[in-house]
Amino acid sequence: MTPYWQALYAPGVPGEIELEADSVVELFRRRVAERPDAPQLHYFGTTLDRAEVDRLSDAFAAGLERRGVGAGDRVAIALQNTPVCVLAVLAVWKLGGTVVPVNPMYKERELAHLLTDSGARVLVAHPAARGVVAALPAGSTPGHVLYSRDGALAADLTGPWPDDADDDVLAIFKEGGAPRAPASPGPDDAALLSYTSGTTGPAKGAINLHRNLAYQVGACRTWIGLGDGDSILTVAPLFHITGLAMHLALGLGGGLPLVLTYRFDARTAAALVERYRPTFTIGSITAFIALLAEPATRDHDLSSLTKVLSGGAPVPAATVRRFADEFGVYIHNAYGLTETTSAAVAVPLGTRAPVDETSGALAIGVPLPSVHVEIRGDDGRPLPPGEVGELAIGGPQVAAGYWNKPEQTRAAFPEGTLLSGDVGFMDTAGWVYLVDRKKDMIVAAGYKIWPREVEDVLYEHPAVREAAVVGVPDPYRGETVRAFVSLRPGATATETELRDFCRARLAVYKAPAQVLIEDDLPKSVTGKILRRELRDAPVEP
Ligand code: AMP
Repeated sequence: MTPYWQALYAPGVPGEIELEADSVVELFRRRVAERPDAPQLHYFGTTLDRAEVDRLSDAFAAGLERRGVGAGDRVAIALQNTPVCVLAVLAVWKLGGTVVPVNPMYKERELAHLLTDSGARVLVAHPAARGVVAALPAGSTPGHVLYSRDGALAADLTGPWPDDADDDVLAIFKEGGAPRAPASPGPDDAALLSYTSGTTGPAKGAINLHRNLAYQVGACRTWIGLGDGDSILTVAPLFHITGLAMHLALGLGGGLPLVLTYRFDARTAAALVERYRPTFTIGSITAFIALLAEPATRDHDLSSLTKVLSGGAPVPAATVRRFADEFGVYIHNAYGLTETTSAAVAVPLGTRAPVDETSGALAIGVPLPSVHVEIRGDDGRPLPPGEVGELAIGGPQVAAGYWNKPEQTRAAFPEGTLLSGDVGFMDTAGWVYLVDRKKDMIVAAGYKIWPREVEDVLYEHPAVREAAVVGVPDPYRGETVRAFVSLRPGATATETELRDFCRARLAVYKAPAQVLIEDDLPKSVTGKILRRELRDAPVEP
């Protein structure tokens, strides 16, 4: 059935996507066979072609196989946007294994949770993580930890490889070879366990299947119109679903060169755009705000970037306008979740998102081809256009559920449709608007922060009686973390001390920017701390 919103797609974009193959590994093999010498990875002066990426990922896969990794095994990868990160992911997939992407900023408690929950056999990390790995609680360290100095690797990638005690991955490249038992992952095999807070509780692994990623490759090529001559600037981190699906998978499976950024920085990104002329990117709006704020970007030619999407956080209409005025580039809003393997709804290329008259919110887009979005009321029934309810999303990129969490899977994915936890409405043409988040999650610079996790850390401080964490608007990061705390009778602690306490135990983006000590925190009759009241409370400067 053709959905009514298809009328909003660009001419020629179909209502349904036909998959070219079931997995990115198969797609990549085809791309290598077609043009082995086409550039695949650009990294600060080094370029690897498809055949070299194939060969190095084979060697990596062989190295992992020697360490016991095989089909169905999990490998955690905590790296920035570097060639080694791409090679490591592809290597795991070539063995039929599952990648557990890890934010390299994680401290021991966060890393330990992912490692033990996923049962990862191997961790690939930067040597800077040695301290964190050494401090992991007993039983949570995987059998093997491979260190890669990645950031400094550009010139080393093509060999000859020096002996480097701090770089296990170079040693693996040196050994070369290919896996004895290469795999061809099936459509329903798990490609990623992407840890996310989802709508409730501590981080759990969303199971992104190979066919979910293969869909995104086909969808991006079709509705963004990416093909020969296009290349990707990797603005989103490769340890997050958008980086993995819309950069890494799309680049490898779609035959598009990836311009790797190490980590996003406006100045460097602008220089890389001028040098490599990427045409497409998707990132958090914070990255685009940073590009606007950085005067040096005006010295670089950014005109190659014509297909630009922003997802993962609300996109202010004013930023879109300014970006279009200053760089002549229109930022297309895109919406998705880890559970939808990145984008599910987006503004069609070449189209401008309408703004909702009452709220001033920019539309998040229209459902992508093959994706079905429904607005559901509290009773679970679909609501007519204009009425506000929860977004339910069905389609080929919806994850298979949460790793080892059957109950939460049943609750969030009834009949394979995802209940997003986001509240919004659709208009009669098919534009979707968000009005609120059902969940309390904070989105700071595109990073998702679950208040409970930060509160748990605050509660560990001996002086803390109660803690509540909320997101407050921030002109640069979208939202920032503010903590409210009351102290135990007789105990003392300063706001700075509590902030430092969190910083020592959490990734820096999760630690509260502000801690406010109050005599008491507002509570409901059932004794629940009223987060919403705190979020809306005016704070004296
Ligand atoms: P994550 O699973 O970490 O990608 O977070 C998904 C959540 O990010 C969604 O449930 C939304 O609340 C939020 N989000 C994603 N894209 C957008 C967007 N374009 N506008 C507003 N919020 C968004």
